[in-house]
Amino acid sequence: MSESGLIDPFGRRISYLRLSVTDRCDFRCTYCMSEDMVFAPRAQILSLEELYTVADAFIGLGVTRIRITGGEPLVRKNLASLLQRLGSRSELEDLAITTNGSQLHEQAQALRKAGVTRLNVSLDSLKPDRFAELTRRDRLAQVLAGIHAARAAGFVRIKLNSVIQKGRNDDEVVDLVAFAVSHGLDISFIEEMPLGRIDSHDRALTFCSSDEVRALVEARYALSPSDHLTGGPSRYWQVAGSGTRIGFISPHSHNFCGSCNRVRVTAEGKLVLCLGDEGALDLKALLRRHPGDSARLRAALVEALRLKPERHHFRSDEQVQVIRFMSATGG
Ligand code: SAM
Ligand code: SF4
Repeated sequence: MSESGLIDPFGRRISYLRLSVTDRCDFRCTYCMSEDMVFAPRAQILSLEELYTVADAFIGLGVTRIRITGGEPLVRKNLASLLQRLGSRSELEDLAITTNGSQLHEQAQALRKAGVTRLNVSLDSLKPDRFAELTRRDRLAQVLAGIHAARAAGFVRIKLNSVIQKGRNDDEVVDLVAFAVSHGLDISFIEEMPLGRIDSHDRALTFCSSDEVRALVEARYALSPSDHLTGGPSRYWQVAGSGTRIGFISPHSHNFCGSCNRVRVTAEGKLVLCLGDEGALDLKALLRRHPGDSARLRAALVEALRLKPERHHFRSDEQVQVIRFMSATGG
């Protein structure tokens, strides 16, 4: 690791990179994209080599955990070659993927072989019709088959991610927990964030706070606080009598910024220092202007960290504060 590593002006050490490998997706979740979403031209997307160069620079600066995301990361062609290179880096304690699960039935074994350590699978409903409504794709059975394939491939502590919206799927909170418990999975409930302009609903009307979701869970399950910490925005609880942990990701209702240990790189090579901030550094321009100059890249990352904001300023009463879509940033 470099002498200084990546430390921001508020003393937070960056050890975690979320790396988006594509902005494209085979789903169109209503809170994430519009049906006619326009994606970046391919030439604007980092090549697999450039993605590796970026990851390598972060590893050189002390990052020990990388999460591959998107868009849907598993629709990126030849992703396995990038994963194999990252999977063989001994500095990495964790190489994780966040996926919608649609390709897992075919790819789970290859991911495991490449050295991927953990999977998060997004799942907002266990009802086929509702799943189709929320994702605009009728693929619940395929996703469930993918979760089973991932377990069969040997992934442990698979975590479900569920965005809960009032009047849309809040009546399934207990069912989702029951599914997690019976399949030996963890689950995180996510508050919807105002990322990108969407036309399907008014985010303020469907907003469901983590406290409300937790109350729904606790009506059925006894929860005890878990000491599991990720340095991320989740607070974890243990479901009594099971191995399942429940996380609550609450950007609105609980400020998690003080312990933030992460930055993001978009598929277009923008370094995003905070999910709730429009500021970004164009790493692609630097990579293409100075190919092979890893010292310059590392210096730019260290310099950029000086601009990491102290905290985000999301509010649930405003439709759009950050124009960037979650799929473009990397969720
Ligand atoms: N396609 C993959 C997936 O769905 O897991 C990875 C990318 S997706 C952007 C990552 C996570 O962000 C998903 O769990 C998704 O539910 C969540 N997400 C997308 N838009 C969101 C929003 N506006 N607010 C909160 N979570 C959101
Ligand atoms: Fe695709 Fe994930 Fe966004 Fe859904 S949440 S549209 S699966 S990127």
